Amino acid sequence: MILVYVEDPSDELSQQALTFARGLGEELHAVVVGTESGGAGLGDYGATAVHVADHPRLDSYAPAAWAASVRHLVDGLSPTTVIGPGSDRGNEVLAHLAARLDQPMSANCVSLAPGEPATVTRVRWGGSLLEEALLHGSPLILTVAPHAVAAEGGAGAEASVEHFTPELSDADVLARVSERQSAASAGVSLGDANVVVSGGRGVGSAEGFAVIEELAGLLGAAVGCSRAVTMAGWRPHSEQVGQTGTKIAPELYIACGISGATQHMAGCKAAKKLLAINPDPESPIFASADYAVIGDLHEVVPAISHEIREAKGA
Ligand code: FAD
Repeated sequence: MILVYVEDPSDELSQQALTFARGLGEELHAVVVGTESGGAGLGDYGATAVHVADHPRLDSYAPAAWAASVRHLVDGLSPTTVIGPGSDRGNEVLAHLAARLDQPMSANCVSLAPGEPATVTRVRWGGSLLEEALLHGSPLILTVAPHAVAAEGGAGAEASVEHFTPELSDADVLARVSERQSAASAGVSLGDANVVVSGGRGVGSAEGFAVIEELAGLLGAAVGCSRAVTMAGWRPHSEQVGQTGTKIAPELYIACGISGATQHMAGCKAAKKLLAINPDPESPIFASADYAVIGDLHEVVPAISHEIREAKGA
């Protein structure tokens, strides 16, 4: 039996994890923790039982408490495999679970071939490498890379819903969400912007994005970025352009320090004009560019901003 950790029944990545798990052909159970929606609808994704954790201490996300809840079920149900979504929380909860069980955990998998040991293919290095690895352990613990499979409902299973109360200690809620703030909006949304100024790994750091933000501000543009940047934690995923980010079609796309990987270009190929700034003349991005500047973005971008300010008389 496979146990799938579900963030929320409406969460697409959790639905993808269920779809991935369903493909493995074993009986499927789901566990939900701390969500008011309970487990409604998960039979559609093949779950025959949904386990809902109930505890007053599960009122606010706390990774250790979430993992303790899943562990409670693992102890009782002895699944062969525990699978979760490859989201920030999915990876965090299953990593805590693995530590509690003293087992290995493999994050962001795109395939699993059972065996002793099992073989997984997983996404590494910000998506630039697919690694085949052996996964030992009992149960097998892994998360599914976002969008490795499309979420497919329609399984039509009758899922029983069973509530349980995990044992939680003070230590389990030491690190917990205490407050939420909405992300500040710069006013121009990435999906609708006429001009997008995007930065890649070549920007070098989170602080390096100051020059990108400055140019975007002068052009009334939205800021975008590549997946290498979101994986490094320099910018939020909401700004990622590409196959697993936002697909955009601006009048002008300015790509700074971006190599032009196919997964990135999948998100910006509908741009009317592409200006690429990169010191490497062999960079693949130039094959798609309408305008090319072979140079260091930290010199070129401030120079463009300077010219715009001059032109505006500011
Ligand atoms: P790199 O490829 O490392 O390129 C950095 C570039 O910066 C280089 O060309 C370098 O010459 C240049 N540079 C260095 N210094 C400077 C400087 N001072 N000034 C200017 N340029 C400089 N990627 C996405 O972006 N979006 C996605 O949605 C996405 N989805 C993916 C989905 C899957 C399933 C997989 C496997 C991968 C996905 N990727 C995605 C990742 C993609 O394959 C690339 O790894 C990623 O786009 C690389 O980002 P980058 O161009 O910023 O980094």
